[in-house]
This record gives sequence, C-alpha cells and structure tokens, in this order.
Amino acid sequence: MTEAAVKGKGAEGAGSGLEAVRARLAAAEAAAGRPPGSVALIAVSKEQPEDRVRAVLEAGHRLFGENRVQEARARWEPLTAATPGIMIHLVGPLQTNKARAAMALFAAIHSLDRPRLAETLARLADERGACPDLLVQVNTGEEPQKAGVAPGEARALLALTRRLSLPVQGLMCIPPEGADPVPHFRLLRAMAESEGLSWLSMGMSGDFETAVAEGATHVRVGRAVFGARR
Ligand SMILES: *Cc1c(COP(=O)(O)O)cnc(C)c1O
Repeated sequence: MTEAAVKGKGAEGAGSGLEAVRARLAAAEAAAGRPPGSVALIAVSKEQPEDRVRAVLEAGHRLFGENRVQEARARWEPLTAATPGIMIHLVGPLQTNKARAAMALFAAIHSLDRPRLAETLARLADERGACPDLLVQVNTGEEPQKAGVAPGEARALLALTRRLSLPVQGLMCIPPEGADPVPHFRLLRAMAESEGLSWLSMGMSGDFETAVAEGATHVRVGRAVFGARR
C-alpha cells in the first residue's frame, strides 16, 4: 500500500479503516481458497491516539497488537477492565526484565528470539502456572539491526523451547523494508511446516493480502486500520 492510500484510510476515520481491512482480508481469504475468518486480524494500535483505538473497539474489534510493554500496559489496563474479551498480542521485541509484566498482560508474544528469553519465560511460566501463546521471531532477511533469531539458529532455539515445555505455536517474521516479501513468507512457512508449527504471523499494512496467499494465520495491521501513526 502506498503512503497516500494509508493516509486516506486514516482520513476516513478508524472505523472505516477497520471495515476496509476486514473486507480486503475476506477477499484475500476467498482468493486463496481459505475459509472465511481463518486469518486473525491483529489491529496494531502502537503510537495511535486513544480516540482511534476507541473507535475500533466500538466497531467490535477485540484483538490488538502493541510493540512496547509499558505503553501497552498504560493504555490497555483501563480498557480491558471496562470491556470484556479484549486480547493483546506483543509484536515488538521483549527485554528479559520486562518478561514478567509481559506475561501478565499479553495473550500472545510474537517475539521470542533468544535462549535467555526462553529460559526466563519458562521460569516465570512455572511460577505462574500459565504462559501466553508464543511465536518465535525469525530474522528471515538476516538484517543485523533487526530482532529475531537467524534462520540457521531457529531449529536449535525451537528444540530448547520444547525441552522447556514452552507453548510455542508458530513463527513470526518482518521482511526487510522495500524487499519482495514473498521469499520471506515462503521461508517462514517452510520452517513452520518442518517444525510442525501451525501459526504464521506475517503480513502488515503493505503486504497482508500477499501474506494471506502465502499461508499467514495472523496478520499484524496498524496504519491501514487506524491511519498513519502520529
Ligand atoms: C508496527 C508494526 C506492525 C504494523 O505495521 P503497519 O505498517 O502499521 O501495518 C506490524 N508488526 C510489527 C512487528 C510492528 O512493529
């Protein structure tokens, strides 16, 4: 999606952005021969103003994504107390010293990417007797500045998560900016299939329909739902 198209969605208001994304997602599911509603829409509300988030909540949407633990907590603790059924997923990187807070807040964490974090989550899961659903983030583009385990190290990390009995459901990736996302989506899917994992978190505002065609089970869409971030 072009920046102009993203901004246009915002100008129509958050409610209509959500409706448009829902319609595009349904069309992408149909085009891929996938059942309606089989792809979860995570509305990524990071850095969005409160009124836009409320509009999307009022339109009945309940699944949201955030990339920072503190910001998510400040925003969502009051909203989840007031509205039943809200689920928040962490889509951004997680520092081990925020793992405890993250486990209390998020229904799923998409950014497990290193052994030390796996060990910390396992210890906290034992303490709590519960653990959010987890996805291992894979740095499919092997970009040095980007979070995620290198593709060549993913198998060892997944083996560790199994030894630790962590509830890893799938894999997540963020393809390099400006690159064709398809090879990255295909690599992620092949890795998930060979590991017997069913969730694929891939696809954002600019490429979520492509991701659905490539097997995404969860798309993380921010600007196309809420408008450009301020
Ligand atoms: C911000 C963000 C998104 C949403 O990006 P948009 O381009 O606004 O759709 C998705 N995934 C992650 C990990 C993000 O940080």
